[in-house]
Amino acid sequence: MTVDVHAHTSYSDGSGIPLMVDAAEAAGLDAVGFADHCSLSEAWRDERLLWNRNFDRTHERRREALAIAADRTDLTLYDAVEMDYEPELEPAIGAFLADADFDYAVGSVHYVAGRQVFPFESFDDASGAERRAFVDDYYDAVVALVESELFDVLAHADLVENHPALRGLTTDAHRERVAVACANSRTVPEINAGRAGDRGEFDLFHPTEPFVDAFRDRGVRFVVGTDSHDPEDFADRVPRLERYLDETGVEPLPVDALLGDSPRAAE
Ligand SMILES: [Zn+2]
Ligand SMILES: [Zn+2]
Repeated sequence: MTVDVHAHTSYSDGSGIPLMVDAAEAAGLDAVGFADHCSLSEAWRDERLLWNRNFDRTHERRREALAIAADRTDLTLYDAVEMDYEPELEPAIGAFLADADFDYAVGSVHYVAGRQVFPFESFDDASGAERRAFVDDYYDAVVALVESELFDVLAHADLVENHPALRGLTTDAHRERVAVACANSRTVPEINAGRAGDRGEFDLFHPTEPFVDAFRDRGVRFVVGTDSHDPEDFADRVPRLERYLDETGVEPLPVDALLGDSPRAAE
């Protein structure tokens, strides 16, 4: 593994650029893509301001910073984004991405109808049927994300598996729908190590093994992301991902495929 397509900086909820670049280099990477969180959600406009989550306004400054950082390292740095996807926001996201002109765009479903996929959201009072309905809605959004053709990368396809109350509710039918959508799209799923290891909730790569198999059965290829937020994440996750790639035989798609218009050959 030489390229990590998914890391964060202090332009969203990660650490300072110099610390992240040094740590990526120390972990043996040749290239790292910084994909800071970006949301255009009006519903959380106030929260975004309060928590300084304004990458839609600060991405040009980060671009200047990455140019400075690139002069100080041998690493290749990519200027990317991790965009919150909502079906209703497609026109706004499309206009924003066309204008911002990132090296590539990562799309994520982090919430559905205002409810977060993460463990800090309680589903304790939700019935089994409600949980299953939420997971159905989550995968509807993932399929819509892929079919929108707005993104180069689909992040952590089965993020719901990270939630204790939603884990295990992903079905073959969900996996099949997402895999078929990706097989027919320019959007490439990511192997994401963000929840693997000691620092994650579970020792979990996204997507889980049956999901990876569903993609591979349809000739879909992957890119690889550590989802590092802190410098020490690289040292932990890069070797983990290397072992994972060794064991599974997954060969990541060269990152050049995200940057140009070249067709993405099947594995
Ligand atoms: Zn994410
Ligand atoms: Zn991320």
